[in-house]
Amino acid sequence: MSAMRSAGIDRWLYPTDRGLYCEPADAYIDPASPVPRALITHGHSDHARPGHGAVLATAETIEVMKVRLGAEAAGRFEATPLGATQSLAGVSVRFVPAGHILGSAQIVLEWNGQRAVISGDYKRSADPTCPPFEPIACDVFVTEATFALPVFHHEPAISEVGRLLASLRRNPDRTHLVGAYGLGKCQRVIRLARDAGYDAPIYLHGALMGTTELYQRLGIPLGEIRAVADTRPADLAGALVLCPPSALADRWSRRFPDPVTAFASGWMRIKGRVRQSGVELPLVISDHADWPELIETVLETGAEDVWVTHGREDALVYELGRRGLNARALALVGFEDEGD
Ligand SMILES: [Zn+2]
Ligand SMILES: [Zn+2]
Repeated sequence: MSAMRSAGIDRWLYPTDRGLYCEPADAYIDPASPVPRALITHGHSDHARPGHGAVLATAETIEVMKVRLGAEAAGRFEATPLGATQSLAGVSVRFVPAGHILGSAQIVLEWNGQRAVISGDYKRSADPTCPPFEPIACDVFVTEATFALPVFHHEPAISEVGRLLASLRRNPDRTHLVGAYGLGKCQRVIRLARDAGYDAPIYLHGALMGTTELYQRLGIPLGEIRAVADTRPADLAGALVLCPPSALADRWSRRFPDPVTAFASGWMRIKGRVRQSGVELPLVISDHADWPELIETVLETGAEDVWVTHGREDALVYELGRRGLNARALALVGFEDEGD
């Protein structure tokens, strides 16, 4: 994989107004609007959208799309096992683990002896709900930049969950209400609590039930899960309850007298965000790479060209340039900060 060759990858892989396009395969990666053929890195809504003709993704991502978007969300779903190589009109396509959420994958494209890796969203820290990120040597590495500022440094998730469980022990009569993104974060927090020995039932807001049941169905054991709606309020004193972050502030949360409110998010690193959220117990847990992980990962791939997608592109492009890499922002449409 030489620098000479990598300079030409943008002749066959480039951004369009529908998303990143691989011309010889006639396929878009995580497109923002319906296309005939989409390669989907993972099930979060800004990456996995309805209406494509054919979707190629991991079996887990396809299940997520069916649960969230409906069985008819694509004309045709094709599952590809992690690590398997297949050919799309002569382009070699391989999905490898991204460590972001269940089913998440990087997409490795090879054509004419050149290799590009589109990493989607990823993280490097341990997550018991999905296989770890696998670094792949490449000419062009396409990276997200959600937390691409030096201030972002996530804590080990297991110790953050340890603080949550310690608070439960200190406040045995107060409901602990944890805001968590519904796909990935919620199930990771539950699994980590189980790993730390918490074996009481865990209660969920209705909006989190579907994806949590799917994780269980796909083989991630989460212990006993109950719906808040099916539970008498008296049984929720001292209980662990998870809800979407938005529910922390709405009427739904008023049913809990004097709850300890928590929010599991990489944004909890920022004091202003903690104040704004009004939570008592900020938990710095993220499913995205933090600043050191972003830099380390890019260097590990050996890519000389780095294309930066959604987030804080400027800081990462600057830092990688300072280290002698050719980095540029792709300015793709359609991505947003996940409620991470
Ligand atoms: Zn994501
Ligand atoms: Zn994303």
